[in-house]
Amino acid sequence: MSNISTLRGLEGQTQGPVFGPADPAAAEEIAAFNTAIVQHPAAVIGAVGEDDVCSAIRWATGQGLPVAVQATGHGLYKPADAAVVISTRRMDSVELLAETQTIRVGAGVRWRKVIDTAQRNGLAPLSGSSSLVGAAGYALGGGVGLLSREFGFAADRIVRFTIVTADGEIRVVDADADPDLYWAVRGGKGNFGVVTEMELGLVPVTTLFGATVYFTAESTPSVLRTYATWAPSLPTNSSSSVALLRLPDLETLPGPLRGKRLVHLRYTFNGKAEHGEALLRPMMTTGEIVLERRGVMGFADADVIHQDPTTPLPVWERSAQLTDFGEDAVDALLETAGPESDCRLLKLELRQLGGALADQPEFPNAVAGRDAPYSLFMIGICPPGAQEAIQESGEAALRALKPWTAPTTLVNFLGAATRPEDVRAAWLPTDRDRLLRIKTTTDPDNVFRFGHALV
Ligand SMILES: Cc1cc2nc3c(=O)[nH]c(=O)nc-3n(C[C@H](O)[C@H](O)[C@H](O)COP(=O)(O)OP(=O)(O)OC[C@H]3O[C@@H](n4cnc5c(N)ncnc54)[C@H](O)[C@@H]3O)c2cc1C
Repeated sequence: MSNISTLRGLEGQTQGPVFGPADPAAAEEIAAFNTAIVQHPAAVIGAVGEDDVCSAIRWATGQGLPVAVQATGHGLYKPADAAVVISTRRMDSVELLAETQTIRVGAGVRWRKVIDTAQRNGLAPLSGSSSLVGAAGYALGGGVGLLSREFGFAADRIVRFTIVTADGEIRVVDADADPDLYWAVRGGKGNFGVVTEMELGLVPVTTLFGATVYFTAESTPSVLRTYATWAPSLPTNSSSSVALLRLPDLETLPGPLRGKRLVHLRYTFNGKAEHGEALLRPMMTTGEIVLERRGVMGFADADVIHQDPTTPLPVWERSAQLTDFGEDAVDALLETAGPESDCRLLKLELRQLGGALADQPEFPNAVAGRDAPYSLFMIGICPPGAQEAIQESGEAALRALKPWTAPTTLVNFLGAATRPEDVRAAWLPTDRDRLLRIKTTTDPDNVFRFGHALV
C-alpha cells in the first residue's frame, strides 16, 4: 500500500483495523450522512475499545497530527482533513443497570439499540427525532428529543463518562471525580477528548400519544398562526414542532407527499391518550390534511413523528434559536418561506423548547440555549450547482427572523454551513471562557479541533 509508511508505528498497536488515506475502506468507514462533506484523513482507526482509542491518540500526537472522532457521521461539521480519525462504530455495547435505572453505552452506539434495550425494561432514554443518530455525539451536544420538555437535555442525564484525553490517559469522570471536566464535556462535545463510554439516566416511559400530520401548502398561514398560540399553551409533558416542507418527487415517499409543498405538524404527549388527543384538537381543524397518523404508539416507534431522512444526502444546513414566535414572526416566516415564496429549502423546522430544558440539572453543565422557547433548523438538498439558491433561501429566512433571533444556538443543530464565528454562540460567553480555561489544561495543543470546535 502506498500509504503504509505514513502509518509506521501504528500497525500492531490496535485491535481494530487501521486504514491508510488512500484505502477505499477508509472513505467508507467515515462516510458522512451529509454527503456534501468529503474527508481526506491521514489515517482512520476502527477502534474496538478504549485501548485502541489511547493508542490512536498517542500515535497521532506523536506525529503532530490532530484527532477527530466519528460514530455515525450524522453530525460532521468540517472534514477531518490530514487528521487521524477514530471511528467508534464498533464500540456499540449497551448494558442496562436496573438498580439505578441507568444505561451504560459505548461511544459508537446508535439510539436504536439503546431504546430497544431500555424499552425491554420499561424505560426510555432522552433520545431525539431519529434513532439512527449516535447516542454519544447527541448527548455530548445537549440533545433535544420528544421527552426533553419534561425531562431536560440528554446531557443533563449523563451520570458519568470515560474519556481519553490528548495525553492518551483514560479518565473516568463524574461530579466527584473531576467536576470541571464533568461540567465541560456535557455540552462542550468533542473538544476535550474521545468519550469511550457513558452512563445515562433513563425515564419510565414506554408509550406516547403521538401525531404526525401533513397539511396542504395552502393551510400554512392558518396552521402557523394557530401553532403560534397553541404551542405555548401546552403542558411540559408534550413535544411539538412544525415544519415547512418542499419535498422532492421521490418514489420512496408516500404518494400524497411526493413533490409537494406541505406543512408538517409533529406532536407527542406523555400521559393519558384522551388528554393528549384533546390538547391536539385545535390544531387538527386548522387546515386540509393530506396524510396523518395519530394515536398511542410505543416509544420505540417514535421515529414516525418527525420522519427524518434515513439515507445520506448532500445538504446545506443551518439553525438558530428564537426568542418568540408571535404574529409578526409568523408573517415574516410566511413571506420568506411560505407557500407563495420561492424558498428552496427541503425543510424549515421550528421546534418548541422550554419546560425542563430551561433548568440547569443538579450538576450544571455547559449546554447553552436553555432560555430560548424555539429552535429553528433549516436544511436544503444541495446537488452540485444548487448550493447558492439553497443558501440564499436559508439566509433570507434567517434575515427575516432576525428580530426574534436569540443570541444562543444549540450545538447539535448548528449544521455544516454555520460560520466558525457563529459556532461561538453555542456556548454562553462566561461558559465559553470557562471551557477555554479547561481546554488549555486538558488539550493545550488543540488536538481535538474538529466537530464544533471551541478554537
Ligand atoms: C437525521 C438527524 C436527526 C437529528 N435529530 C436530532 C434531535 O432530535 N435532537 C438533537 O439534539 N440533535 C439531533 N441531530 C443532531 C445530532 O444529535 C448531532 O449531529 C450529533 O452530533 C450526531 O452524533 P453522531 O455520533 O451520530 O454523529 P458523528 O458525525 O459521528 O459525530 C458528530 C460529532 O459528535 C462528537 N462526538 C461523537 N462521538 C464522540 C465521542 N465518542 N467523544 C467525543 N465527541 C464525540 C464529535 O464532535 C463529532 O464530530 C440530528 C441529526 C440528524 C442528521
